[in-house]
Amino acid sequence: MPKFDCLCCGHCCLNLVDAYQGCVSDADMQRWRQEGRDDLLAWVVTLALGPDNQLHTAWVDPATGDDVERCPWLLDRIDGNGYLCGIDATKPDHCRNYPEHRQHAAATGCRSISWESGDDSRL
Ligand code: SF4
Ligand code: SF4
Repeated sequence: MPKFDCLCCGHCCLNLVDAYQGCVSDADMQRWRQEGRDDLLAWVVTLALGPDNQLHTAWVDPATGDDVERCPWLLDRIDGNGYLCGIDATKPDHCRNYPEHRQHAAATGCRSISWESGDDSRL
């Protein structure tokens, strides 16, 4: 079965505001606490919406309190041919799960080769 094949074009990280100004999940927060990733937690602002209801907004520059215009973990490849996620092993769930399916990829501009061949499955 063909497999989702990221081209490392950087489109999703650079141009989809939900990627770099989205909300991270409770699971992301818990994982980063367990991993001791204070460097990541510092870029998240948690809003209390009610009992047991929190919104974790990311990424927010800890120096200025402003929403970022570019993901702070996005790296330019040394060869100049695309981008890499600097926190790939523990990136937020919404990044890990993007794109959710072929239609999502098409609607948001992901040009994965595998899905251009017509395969609907991500893995
Ligand atoms: S837009 Fe698609 S191919 Fe490009 S970096 Fe994102 S997931 Fe990979
Ligand atoms: S955390 Fe990684 S995958 Fe998510 S927007 Fe930033 S660079 Fe892209």
